[in-house]
Amino acid sequence: MPGNLTFTDLKSKVADGSIDTVLACIVDMQGRLMGKRFTGSHFAASAWEETHCCNYLLATDLEMETPEGYAATSWRAGYGDYMMKPDLATLRLVPWLAGTAMVLCDLRDHHDQGDIEHSPRAILKRQIARAQALGLTPMMATELEFFLFQGDYNALRNSGYRDLKPYSPYNLDYNMLATTKEEHVMRPIRNHLVAAGVPVENSKGEAEAGQEELNIRYAEALDCADNHVIAKQAIKEIAWQQGVSATFLPKWRDDAVGSAAHVHLSLWAGKDPAFYDKDGAHGMSSTMRAFCAGMLKYAADVTVFLAPYVNSYKRFAKGTFAPTKIAWSVDNRTAGFRLCGEGSKAVRMECRIPGSDMNPYLAEAALLAAGLKGIEERLSLGDPVGGDLYDDTTVPEIPRSLAAATERLRASTMLREAFGDWTVDHYTRAAEVEQEAFDAAITDWEIARGFEKA
Ligand code: ADP
Repeated sequence: MPGNLTFTDLKSKVADGSIDTVLACIVDMQGRLMGKRFTGSHFAASAWEETHCCNYLLATDLEMETPEGYAATSWRAGYGDYMMKPDLATLRLVPWLAGTAMVLCDLRDHHDQGDIEHSPRAILKRQIARAQALGLTPMMATELEFFLFQGDYNALRNSGYRDLKPYSPYNLDYNMLATTKEEHVMRPIRNHLVAAGVPVENSKGEAEAGQEELNIRYAEALDCADNHVIAKQAIKEIAWQQGVSATFLPKWRDDAVGSAAHVHLSLWAGKDPAFYDKDGAHGMSSTMRAFCAGMLKYAADVTVFLAPYVNSYKRFAKGTFAPTKIAWSVDNRTAGFRLCGEGSKAVRMECRIPGSDMNPYLAEAALLAAGLKGIEERLSLGDPVGGDLYDDTTVPEIPRSLAAATERLRASTMLREAFGDWTVDHYTRAAEVEQEAFDAAITDWEIARGFEKA
């Protein structure tokens, strides 16, 4: 059970008053938790079976605008309801909020109760089922990088996000003094998450002022994505409780390193690592080689799901530890894909393309779809590349902009087969909406550049 609270235990905690609130949450397109706060008594009596939400939750942007162009819902269709079906296996305590538990919900059609095809949890579940049909269980880990800033969200918003001050004023990569100064935020994050059933391994300072990373033990792919969104929520809420702000915006300054959410992937056959072959080069099995060849071949097709906003593409910058090239390496951090655990049962591929703003369900599903296609096509993997890949012109680039990545998504036969046209069209529209919003904005940069000099 990925959660840490049975429904029976919840009912007795509600009865003895130690739990009075249950958060019923769905995951939206942006990977955010959205839902309702139930009284414990009402959840235990009836809402545990089902509750409802407006179906615009899978058709809004970050600002909750209602853009045109989605087949799934619209003003014309009247923005009806989805059913929220609690997945009771995810029931857990939320120790950073008093008297609170949480459950993740799947989205179902209000009328025929079928899965909502374009909901992030359903998309990932379908790709996991594809792997399972081959006798393979995908195991994944996502590394959460983020920045801590002085001042809470309201203070920073009220200042117009001017003169932002990273909590630690210097690069705190592995730095034990600087991270001690952030322990009033990071220690409750680690400990509360563990108490919520999220198996945190560690946190560490990262390679930029104010930047932290949280590592969670790898898990089955759905649990990994659930852990990611719960951890992200905890980080933001606990930071807020401590009077500081956490941001998962990947790039907040052009001269600062950005935040990533690297994804580690491996496939297992029961208890055996299907990626491992002690006689294979680097300990890689033929299954791993074909899967990785698929991820490389289709990396541009899936980039929108790894880098969903205009800002995401600013992270892909030379000399910043963020990749710019689609290639694989043996433990080389300048490549989009890095082999880890070489020659051991822990052999796995780390995809370094995803930014901290990715939706983990969509990113994992897209990488799985690409890798499984590689197995189906029996692709062969070329040799690893080495050296400084930023200057290597012999390997392909990661799409340079959201607009370029959107066109790759729209044209992707692989993703249309794996996700279905309905879902690909839906997320293509979501990416267009982001680009349209950016294109309509007049930025500070344009004014400063052109006001006098144009
Ligand atoms: P590094 O710090 O070099 O990136 P870590 O040893 O901290 O590597 O591992 C990074 C992540 O990889 C952790 O979250 C860990 O749980 C995960 N991981 C370890 N083994 C596997 C595996 N076989 N498959 C997927 N993820 C794994």
